[in-house]
Amino acid sequence: MAEIIDGKKLAKKIREELKKEVIEKKLSPKLAVILVGNDEASKIYVRNKNKACEEIGIEFEEHLLSEETTMEELLDLINKLNEREDVSGILLQSPIPKHLNIKTAFETISPEKDVDGFNPINIGRLEINEPSFVSCTPYGVLKMLKEYKVEIEGKTAVVIGRSNIVGKPLIQLLLNKNATVIVTHSKTRNLEQYTKQADILVSAIGKARYIKSDMIKEGAVVIDVGINRDPKTGKVVGDVDFDEVSKKASYITPVPGGVGPMTIAMLMHNVVQAAKKN
Ligand code: NDP
Repeated sequence: MAEIIDGKKLAKKIREELKKEVIEKKLSPKLAVILVGNDEASKIYVRNKNKACEEIGIEFEEHLLSEETTMEELLDLINKLNEREDVSGILLQSPIPKHLNIKTAFETISPEKDVDGFNPINIGRLEINEPSFVSCTPYGVLKMLKEYKVEIEGKTAVVIGRSNIVGKPLIQLLLNKNATVIVTHSKTRNLEQYTKQADILVSAIGKARYIKSDMIKEGAVVIDVGINRDPKTGKVVGDVDFDEVSKKASYITPVPGGVGPMTIAMLMHNVVQAAKKN
């Protein structure tokens, strides 16, 4: 039976350490969050980020823009926040309305305040293994592996999914730690041919219980990034069929309580880092 990688517990530990650091170093971190439009899920995410900030002692400034906001208005706000010395980090909650160009918006956020790690400058810095803000979910995955002393160097890591916010930064992070990385995606033929080679398997697909035990190697470390609704029960489940895979893996993350809580913890980490630098 696999050991559970407890993301909830680790995230709590990280938040407590950050809270201590903010007090001891007399930091004044401030996160400015921009929310455009009325996406209900985004409102919940923003509320959760606000709660985490309060707990740590990070000031939270919310900018609610209407659905009709123009690109000029959005960029104007980002530029003002870039210039303000009291703002440590800027986060643009996605999705934003379709008439706005999210790529340009992310590019406008100053790389030094880009706590989500979505600015191409930070993506490039990660590529060449230089200090950068790293996208929070993949950063959280790496932190979990470190906490549970999972050796990465020389291991075969298979990443399923190549999105800009999860898969791609994760590929780079694992490569920077000297793993041999195999990348798979929706056009990959015979997926299990690759997943079976994985010492470390990370799934970020978005398909409920897609990864079965016959797709993994005995003793693999399995990290489940997926957040899906079980079509029958409506419950939140991962990409991995936890019940069967946990019998074969050496370590496994549950859903919920695995990677999810780590994402917000790493965002808080990035904001505190930004406050130290700026
Ligand atoms: P995307 O939809 O952007 O990317 C999904 C990736 O999975 C794509 O690269 C796609 O390939 C690939 N894929 C889809 N189907 C298959 C398949 N059958 N076999 C192999 N690869 C496949 O999703 P995200 O990266 O944003 O998110 C992935 C999952 O992680 C979702 O469930 C999301 O909810 C969750 N998530 C969880 C977070 C957390 O905090 N725990 C944070 C962010 C996301 P292709 O590129 O060819 O289309």
